Amino acid sequence: MKIGFNEGCNRFCENHSVLEDLALCEKYGFDYIDVQSECLDRELAAGKYTLEELGEFFRTHKIKMLSYNALIFFNMKQTQEEKDAVMAQLDEIIRRCQILDCKMIVVVPSMDLQVHASIDDIRKDAVAVLKEMVKKVEPHGIKLSIEFCGAPSMSINRFEDAYAIVQEVNHPLVGVTLDQYHFHAMASGWDALEKADGKKIFVWHLNGMENMPCGAAYNNDEKRLWPGEPGDCLDHKRYADTLKKIGFDGGVCTIEVFRPDYYKLSNEENIKKAAEVTRAHVEKYC
Ligand code: ZN
Repeated sequence: MKIGFNEGCNRFCENHSVLEDLALCEKYGFDYIDVQSECLDRELAAGKYTLEELGEFFRTHKIKMLSYNALIFFNMKQTQEEKDAVMAQLDEIIRRCQILDCKMIVVVPSMDLQVHASIDDIRKDAVAVLKEMVKKVEPHGIKLSIEFCGAPSMSINRFEDAYAIVQEVNHPLVGVTLDQYHFHAMASGWDALEKADGKKIFVWHLNGMENMPCGAAYNNDEKRLWPGEPGDCLDHKRYADTLKKIGFDGGVCTIEVFRPDYYKLSNEENIKKAAEVTRAHVEKYC
């Protein structure tokens, strides 16, 4: 199993830079990186580097970009103008992916819906939007991976709902991101994961978390931990064994935490620690 680094881990560390992350991830042995769009947008605007410089780094080093993380709030748009804006965002991300040699885009559901949509309404809408999106990514062989998010306000917040959408789209370029925190935080069903086709899971986000009540407002991304830290409540063996059993062949285990305490580390300390815990995790469970 290869190991990946998601910049959620260090996005608010002092003097964060995607270009520096590439060098540090390479130095500490990560095979892949998920680049966070908010880092990229912020730092491109500040003139820290160009997309072409990042692309050049990837072409001249071993590290690869696993995913563009992310196209956010892709679904349940109510006006044509909003729908067009999502597709325009996708066009721009595809342009960037070509420069960065990236073959996957993580898509994140919309939150705080104003309409009282049922799970069926949300599924139908997401299927239609993803079918449109596939037409755009297909010529480039870029995958789309839905990341359901384990918060009450998110429109797709359990594994089974995301998986039903992927099944209905039924396209080899459309799959699910399985983030352990998100899975546990809204009590996704292990029965659903156990019955799923592992090949439809494109990305595995590894993290631990504090034992917080399902759906509590304070049960948010900040409660994530490095896996195996004191207080981590997740059943890591079960995640790893289940993924193996259902045939997950994404080939990469990617660490993603968003813990404010970890943002106090330097970029280098953060990435060094992330590499240690991810490598230890893979050796123990994969
Ligand atoms: Zn994630």
